[in-house]
Amino acid sequence: TNVYPDNFIDDAIRSDIEKGRFTSVHTRFPPEPNGYLHIGHAKSIVLNFSIAKKYNGKCNLRFDDTNPEKETDEFVNSIIEDVRWLGFDWEDRLFFASDYYERMYELAVRLIKAGKAYVDHSSAEEISRMRGVPTEPGIESPYRNRSIKENLELFEKMRKGEFAEGECVLRAKIDMSSPNMHLRDPIMYRIRKVSHFRQGDKWCIYPTYDWAHGLEDSFEGISHSICTMEFEVHRPLYDWFLNQFEDLHHPRQIEFARLNLSHTVMSKRLLTQLVTEGHVDGWDDPRLPTIAGLRRRGFTPSSIRNFCHRIGVSKVDSTVDMAFLEAVIREELNKTAERRMAVLNPVKLVITNYPEDKVEMLISENNPEDDSAGTREIPFCRELYIEADDFMEDPPKKFFRLAPGREVRLKHAYIVKCQEVIKDAQGNITELRCTYDPETKSGGPEANRKVKATLHWVSARHAVNAEVRLYERLFTRENPLDTEEDKTFLDYINPNSLTICTDAKLEPALKDAQPGKNYQFLRKGYFCLDSKYSTPQKPVFNRTVTLKDEWEK
Ligand code: ATP
Ligand code: MG
Ligand code: MG
Repeated sequence: TNVYPDNFIDDAIRSDIEKGRFTSVHTRFPPEPNGYLHIGHAKSIVLNFSIAKKYNGKCNLRFDDTNPEKETDEFVNSIIEDVRWLGFDWEDRLFFASDYYERMYELAVRLIKAGKAYVDHSSAEEISRMRGVPTEPGIESPYRNRSIKENLELFEKMRKGEFAEGECVLRAKIDMSSPNMHLRDPIMYRIRKVSHFRQGDKWCIYPTYDWAHGLEDSFEGISHSICTMEFEVHRPLYDWFLNQFEDLHHPRQIEFARLNLSHTVMSKRLLTQLVTEGHVDGWDDPRLPTIAGLRRRGFTPSSIRNFCHRIGVSKVDSTVDMAFLEAVIREELNKTAERRMAVLNPVKLVITNYPEDKVEMLISENNPEDDSAGTREIPFCRELYIEADDFMEDPPKKFFRLAPGREVRLKHAYIVKCQEVIKDAQGNITELRCTYDPETKSGGPEANRKVKATLHWVSARHAVNAEVRLYERLFTRENPLDTEEDKTFLDYINPNSLTICTDAKLEPALKDAQPGKNYQFLRKGYFCLDSKYSTPQKPVFNRTVTLKDEWEK
């Protein structure tokens, strides 16, 4: 399961190696540092690093930092942390596209000298209008036939900051009647008088994606430049630029379908909006599909890698159901998570015939799926907590849990019978008075007596007070971008996506819970310690997933 399953990209790579087009495999993951990584990026990360590994090749981490406006060091650092956390290592091959600006500039000058690029003083609107529509030839810019000498002078002035933003651009001179709009004299440089987070004010012209990306790949000796399908129509341009320079290494671009997930959004623009407008609690909000959010939620690196392997790679766009991502982590945690008892919404249960001072230490296996996980002791005594909704004073027919006069088993302990319900002045239940049958202890003579329910519980005297956070999907719509009239994706935010249980009671073994470790709370799901809000005084736990797929019910 550690080898990425073969797909059409393998076919291309093997054929390239066989034909000698490349002697080794070298890929890259090229994020723009303008946001945090999400599960869609994970698909690309896993693909690129796994392919390199499979063919004994290399994979670079390269920041595609070519837009000064929205890029920051915070985003760079989060991306580095997330790729590493996912389990991948770029060794000493961490690169920044902005370090190549000078080389790119020199190549642009060469293109001008070859008569293949020109400075255009048309406005953005004019350029767009002259490009026209794919079915008819476009119109050539009046600046298209400037002399090489004039273009060289103007381009240098652009670099020196002698023109205002938007006053002119550098364009490649390709084909204004190409049916592929990307070949109708694409823009190579724009003027942006904005500081770059790494380059400061050194540059005021910035390369476009199409001009920069192939060069970045080429400079780094990339063999296979793997990107998402929307770049398929850009591939002729990718190849055109590299074909202008005989001395440059020429990588092969291969496209695959991006990951779409139901009930969420993944574009960085929309994630940024959710974060900056405060709809969620930062980029690492456990409801977000960001790697940082999934980590806080309790997803493991192996579950995300496994998910990426199992969804596969194709050229056809599709949407993966969020339920599948949840099923993958659930399946893993069932095997690996230690079991604990935790009462999320407590009501007190007092065993009136159990001695006041007595404490029994009950032994329980930590994980029935894994003998090596060992056992632990759980204290049992006279006063316990159970879930408030495991009791009903006036139960309907199908309610089999605790009710007046009824018996239930307490997990790992005894059968108890509810004798009396105590209420406060407002009529709220404050205490359930029960009796226990000492013969019914697990392993005892009456242990096998049939009762309809087994409840989890926590000893009141030993309980750890905690906050427990339950999450549901952030959006009520399968595709929040498929909106009704006058609505935006924000209108489909699920108002119940976060429930906070402020008065949870945990068994004492959970005092030692560590961040990054997962637990199954019996009957309640899989949980982990929250890395952001936990304190030694009040631990906070996040529910990763429920035990069963409740959404589908
Ligand atoms: P967005 O559209 O959200 O801004 P992006 O593609 O511009 O995303 P980049 O930082 O440029 O974000 O992405 C880095 C790499 O991750 C690119 O190679 C891109 O193709 C890939 N990637 C981004 N989103 C997805 C996705 N949903 N599925 C697969 N790969 C993705
Ligand atoms: Mg991009
Ligand atoms: Mg982008």
